[in-house]
Amino acid sequence: MLVALVLAGLTGLPAAQTPQSPAPYTVVSRDGRQPLPARSINGQEMFAIDDLARIFGFTTKDDPIAGGLTITLRGQSILLSPNQEIASVAGRLISLPAPPAREGRAWFVPVDFVARALAPVAGTPIELRKPSRLVLLGDIRMPRVAGRIESLGALARLTLDVAPTTPHAVTQEGNRLILRFEADAIDASLPTSPVPELIAGVRPEGAAAIAVELGPRHASFRSSDLPGDRGGVRIVIEVVAKTTDTPAAPSPTAPAAEAPPLLDLVPAGTLRTVVIDPGHGGADEGARGAGGSVEKSVTLAVARRLKAALEARLGVRTLLTRDGDTALGLDERAAVANNNKADLFISLHANASVRPGAAGAQVFYLSLEELGDEARRAASAPRETLPVFGGGSRDIEVVAWRFAQARHIERSASFARTVEAALRARVTMSARPLQQAPLRALVGANMPAVLIEMGFMSNPQQAAQLGSDEYQNAIVQAVVDGVIQFRDGRGAAPAPVPQVPGR
Ligand SMILES: [Zn+2]
Repeated sequence: MLVALVLAGLTGLPAAQTPQSPAPYTVVSRDGRQPLPARSINGQEMFAIDDLARIFGFTTKDDPIAGGLTITLRGQSILLSPNQEIASVAGRLISLPAPPAREGRAWFVPVDFVARALAPVAGTPIELRKPSRLVLLGDIRMPRVAGRIESLGALARLTLDVAPTTPHAVTQEGNRLILRFEADAIDASLPTSPVPELIAGVRPEGAAAIAVELGPRHASFRSSDLPGDRGGVRIVIEVVAKTTDTPAAPSPTAPAAEAPPLLDLVPAGTLRTVVIDPGHGGADEGARGAGGSVEKSVTLAVARRLKAALEARLGVRTLLTRDGDTALGLDERAAVANNNKADLFISLHANASVRPGAAGAQVFYLSLEELGDEARRAASAPRETLPVFGGGSRDIEVVAWRFAQARHIERSASFARTVEAALRARVTMSARPLQQAPLRALVGANMPAVLIEMGFMSNPQQAAQLGSDEYQNAIVQAVVDGVIQFRDGRGAAPAPVPQVPGR
């Protein structure tokens, strides 16, 4: 449930508001904020021309013969006529959702008048945001922020969709996380928390920040940024619960300086985050199927199913590198996994061959052979580890990006074998079902990573299968089985694996 945020400084409504009056709009400019009262007249929300004249600095003149009103702003005229749903703006006709209204000598216009009539002649940007009851006047950076909170067992996840993308930073101040935006203000809809023991509340903090009040059971948090919709950014903040054998967290009165740094209380080996990478996207369609289907759509469809299945069956946080038909570089895909500290990276593809009969699924993991000595050294280099509050340790991320995968090869191989065995139980496998190859897609992933070719688009029968619910579900079931076995340390035993030359 979303609760509209009451912007700081706007809480005082004019005393004259009657119960029937709609809440005022707020005009936000570089000079500050001011209320703009709204009235409901004939079922339409309206502003008084006198209020608009005061805020936008125009003059008005009654036309006694025609009964109209002339508004003059920056030397240009807007002509209003009673009972007319059109107005003339600098000689151009614009439409209004309702005619102007008059009460005595006072004129009222539908709120859209601001965007349709004033904006074209104002000489400065004017933006009317009806849902948030705002009028932005001038060059105001005021991103929209829409939040939701999910309860995921031992953690609570706050997701904030921010548009347009706005630089921001998260800091911990005592028992609060402060999310500051580089903006003049924010236009936010913030959720109530269904898990007050982890997230007590989410509130505005000043004009351009949000405070996340941590609940009594919180132990640590992590935050990450993902690409959002329509040029926005999605900020995900996860608050992790204390485990029973964990030392008590600092008291709420402890100074911020003594607050623990980012903590990681989940035992090593626990699966927390899986990133699924639907191959290709945007202009890069991937392989084209016999019936006109394209690889980029098949991979996204299976990825979405796999995400739903992993979340439902394992309760594991599952992220997609893309959740739309968007282009994404290979390093960006790995970055989504690395930035979210994923425990597994699964890249989904479908194959193509010049041999129309080629069929079957294959599982790949990275081969270091072609990457040279530096990669092999990276694989065997000692890891630096940091002790972690509550036990365990975590690796410092010192490994070079281009060799991030090198040190995970053995666990990647184990996961690949496990997935191959699970797939074999459900779908046709290729003659070479498990392969090691110098895959560019996996090099940058700093966690066990595999690439699954789910079948051959170039084979008409397989292309039809790949588009079917039944086959997609079989793939999903197999991968879920593989993930569960890998999580539980029941991976398939090593077997000789053929090396294939570069792909
Ligand atoms: Zn592909």
